[in-house]
Amino acid sequence: MVPNGHPSRYRPALRTGQKFDASASDRPILVFENVYKAYRADQPVLRGTNLIIERGEFVFITGPSGAGKSTLLRMLYRAETVDDGRILFLGRDIARLTDDSVPMLRRNIGVVFQDFKLVPTWTVFDNVAVTLEVLGLPARIIHIRVGEALERVGLSGRGSDRAAVLSGGEQQRVAIARAIVGEPALILADEPTGNLDPLLATDILGLFEDIHETGTTVLFATHDRTLLDVRPRRVVVLDEGKATDVPHGLGMEEDFDDFGECVDEYTPMEDVEPRVETPTDRLAVA
Ligand code: ADP
Repeated sequence: MVPNGHPSRYRPALRTGQKFDASASDRPILVFENVYKAYRADQPVLRGTNLIIERGEFVFITGPSGAGKSTLLRMLYRAETVDDGRILFLGRDIARLTDDSVPMLRRNIGVVFQDFKLVPTWTVFDNVAVTLEVLGLPARIIHIRVGEALERVGLSGRGSDRAAVLSGGEQQRVAIARAIVGEPALILADEPTGNLDPLLATDILGLFEDIHETGTTVLFATHDRTLLDVRPRRVVVLDEGKATDVPHGLGMEEDFDDFGECVDEYTPMEDVEPRVETPTDRLAVA
């Protein structure tokens, strides 16, 4: 997947196709416009959420347990419906995609979960290859690309091991390889370090950062505040059904057990700096 090991020679992340045209590269990769979501009418999870993610960003989504982080991610690949408002992926309203277009959407989005979701009796190779097999790619191509993906996550030579014999950290690496092997434009990570000890968690974060370096947009949902402090990154807090940018580090010394209380003490980024438009600007501010 990384010819000659050089990220800049990586194949373009975004597949062209009739549903995702070339002008899409000028648009934000994701726009949430006033999104509402409720599983129970009296307890809405998202209450007019607005959020813009530019192509190539690395964004932490954080907030208290139950704030709706998983829900927000699940709506992106149409595992949940949107009750009101719009979510645009490369300018296209996800809710309005026809059923025929949903596989195309999902091909452009790789997902990594807290509990890995591997098939334990399958080999590492098969767990990764499945992403490409459903696309009907030739076995030879699958073999090459799975090998490249496993190399990127540091698991070269482990392809024939059964997934069940791997450690938790290794299993999460397999899951990451499965998510990236199709070269999606967007990677969603839903508490990917939640089952790992702190050292492994930092390793896994590093892998996502490597993936981001190759141009892939990464949305990383976590409530682990130590990860937020590893490097200056854009941090979006989801709380009370709204998404708010917070400057990196500001107020992070507060007890973070209850994000709801902490968020009230933040000054939203818009109030302390002019609105920043690019990932680089955001890093400069952070
Ligand atoms: P987070 O990922 O931030 O912990 P979730 O998105 O998992 O939050 O959940 C947000 C809220 O929605 C929680 O109160 C949760 O119990 C509820 N919820 C999530 N999924 C469902 C579902 N399928 N049916 C009913 N309630 C759900």
